Parts: sequence; structure tokens; C-alpha cells
Amino acid sequence: MENMIWNKNKECMSREELRDLQGKRLHKLVDLVYHNTPFYRAKMQEMDLLPDDIRTIDDIVKLPFTTKADLRDNYPVGLLATPMSEIVRIHASSGTTGNPTIVGYTYRDLEIWKEVIARALTAYGVTRGDIVSVGYGYGLFTGGLGAHYGVEHLGATVLPTSTGNTEKHIRLLRDLGVKGIACTPSYALYLAEALHKQGLSADDLKLRIGAFGAEPWTENMRREIEERLGIQAYNIYGLSEIMGPGVAYECGCKNGSHIAEDHFYPEIIHPETGEVLPLGQEGELVLTTLTKTGMPLLRYRTKDLTTLMLGTCECGRTSVRFTRILGRSDDMLIIRGINVFPSQVENVILEMPEFAPRYMLVVDRKNNMDMLEVQVELRPDNFSDDLGGMLALKKRLAERLKSVLSISAEVKLVEPNSLPRSEGKSTRVIDKRVLA
Ligand code: ADP
Ligand code: ZN
Repeated sequence: MENMIWNKNKECMSREELRDLQGKRLHKLVDLVYHNTPFYRAKMQEMDLLPDDIRTIDDIVKLPFTTKADLRDNYPVGLLATPMSEIVRIHASSGTTGNPTIVGYTYRDLEIWKEVIARALTAYGVTRGDIVSVGYGYGLFTGGLGAHYGVEHLGATVLPTSTGNTEKHIRLLRDLGVKGIACTPSYALYLAEALHKQGLSADDLKLRIGAFGAEPWTENMRREIEERLGIQAYNIYGLSEIMGPGVAYECGCKNGSHIAEDHFYPEIIHPETGEVLPLGQEGELVLTTLTKTGMPLLRYRTKDLTTLMLGTCECGRTSVRFTRILGRSDDMLIIRGINVFPSQVENVILEMPEFAPRYMLVVDRKNNMDMLEVQVELRPDNFSDDLGGMLALKKRLAERLKSVLSISAEVKLVEPNSLPRSEGKSTRVIDKRVLA
């Protein structure tokens, strides 16, 4: 089957041509922010930099980083590079961590956004004539409206279901023969459970394609969702500061997410020292918005940890890919000096058929010692009164966790459907050390 590509000119550009384009765009961008964003002008003056010092894409390393704190300090609109009258839309970050930050888009920014979403949807196999349900929250969060306009731009039919009314959602999926769905992986699971509760299965739907993102998810979670909804599940990545969903997307190869590199320039740095790392090393993803005009950002530190891979993909796209995001450096727990990501726990839990993909990490400090408790839901068929059996299962999970995480965790098996459900981004960690 021939791979469909939305914008062959850009997605399959030769590397030299692309780097040339990136350099030209970077030069223009630096000129724009130097003359229009006092924050960047001040930073560049401090570093003795003029726009003309930035000629090729390799010069990017001379430029200053931007952090979430810079966005907060310049709240609400201090980082705009255009007058407010040019801004046609505002979104605010969902504030998973700390205060909200605001992002402004020009009309042109929105055009770029829908273009990259159309690229992503095409990579997943969505075409004109398909119906796509957007189950991301609509509102200040970028997920809903971002995906929405991309579906329309592609020429497919958008069903703006948002979150909230799952029963109606399922009914519409069924009655309209909806083919695609875009939502958080947590919501996909929630939907699968709701379907099951109604006595329905994937066979009652015509869903084939899922675009999931906005939170980290694992390969095991992919398998779970694909099986339960009878679909192919693909990653979509983005963040409001840079644009929203569509910054990167998987292709049919499911081997890394392609960055829309003609618009968003990626680098990987050491999360502590800020040193730029060579290709192939794991570190923090840094993104520069090469073409945005509303609130362009230079070298924005995403805090997302990943690895970049170069080389033409089997799909034909030449853009750099990144491997699955392990989590944000913010999500990383340090327990007794050891780094632990919730996604590592998710992978272990889903390796064992007895457990549902529902878990919670509770971290506390007792007698000056960090304690990790992993609460996990049993699948309905595995929930029993056989105490011996439950104990043995608990022990098996604890041993497996210990070998993967290198620290011991207290395992608590809980009843099916007892942990809190989320329709948006899910919360999987309660760190009582921070709350205390
Ligand atoms: P907030 O920063 O308040 O969570 P955003 O909605 O902008 O608001 O969230 C962007 C973040 O969500 C990213 O930086 C990343 O940590 C996470 N994210 C988005 N998509 C993915 C994905 N496909 N895989 C892993 N993490 C993702
Ligand atoms: Zn590919």
C-alpha cells in the first residue's frame, strides 16, 4: 500500500535543502523577535548578539534558551512578537504543573497548525470522507480546537465530541460509523470501559484509527488500546507553548514520532547542564518555532525527555524522529536517590495479564525514608477471595517492579474500577513528600 503523505515537498525534503530552509527561517525569526519582543532583545544584547550573527541553522546554539518561568514572568502577553490586534486566538496551558501560561496565535500561526495536524492525520491513514471524533477537551486547552481545525483542513468530517458525555459519544461513534478518534490515551481506555459496560465491543464500532497524546503512554498501553478498540493507535505530540498537538506525529511504521521540522527545530540538551548533546543521546527536548509570528519562542526547554533519530524512515519522510517520551523531567520521581518514571511502572503492570491499565503511585516519607506504594487495579476476572492467590500475585508484581526500578515498592491490589478515572490528562502520582 502506498504511504499517504500530506505535504511531500516538506515532509520528504532532502536534509541539505531542509537545513537551508531552517537557516533562512531562523534568521527571519531572530530578526522578528529582536525588533518586536523586548524580552529577547534584552537577552540578545546581554549576549552581544545581533540578528545578523544568526545565518545558518548551526548558529542556533548561540541563542538563549527560553523556559516556562520566562513565560510566567512575562505573563500575560509579554512574549508576543506582534501587536495584540494581530492575535486571533489565545490558549492557555492546562497547568499540569504550576500557574497557567498564555499563548497567542496569529491567523498565519493557525494555518501552520492545521497544516501540521493534516500531516499527522494523513500519516495515520485518515482521508477525506472519513469521520474523526475529537475527544480532547475543547476550550483553553489546545487539544480540542487544535485537532478540530486540522481535521477540517484535511477535508475529513470532524465530530467535536470533546470530553464529558461518553454515552452520547459512543452512540455517535456507532450511528455514524466514525473511523478515527483523537483523545488522550486515558480517555481511550475510559471509552473502552464504557463500551464494555454497555455490553458492546469494538465490533459494534467502525473505529480503525486513534491519535493519542497530551500525556506519556507506553508500548504496552498501545497494545491494550488497540486490542480493546480494534484500532491502530498512533502517537501525536505537542505542547501549547510551541503550538499544541501536531508538533510531532508517528507514521504507519510506529517507529518514532516525526517532528514537523520545517516549523519546529529540535535539539536535545543535558537537562542539568544545558549542554547540547549529540544525536542519539537521551536528554531534554528543546524546540524553536521557526515560522510562528504571534508568540515565537527561541530554544524552548520542554522538559520532555527523549532521543532524536536521524535517517529516512521507511514511510519516506526525512524528518527527524524522536523515541517515545519517557516523561517530563518534572514527572520524574526521585525515590531513595533513584529516578523513577510512572511510565516504567505502567510498562511492568501491563506485562502482566492480571492487571488493568489503572494504577497510582503514592510516595511518602516515613522515618526519613522514602516509601513508594504502587496501587493497581485487578482485571474483573482476576479479582478473587483467594487470599493465597492474591498474595502470590502481589509478590510477583513487587519482584518484577524491583528488578525494573531497582528499588522496592509496596504493592496494593485494588478492586476493579476503584481508582479515579480521568477524561483529560490523568494523574498517576501522589507525592505526599511535596504536600507535607
Ligand atoms: P501543560 O504543560 O500544562 O501540561 P500542555 O497541554 O501544553 O500543558 O502539555 C504539553 C505536555 O504534554 C508536553 O510537554 C508533554 O510533556 C506532554 N505530552 C503531550 N503529548 C505527548 C505525547 N504524545 N507523549 C508524551 N507526552 C506528551
Ligand atoms: Zn515514518
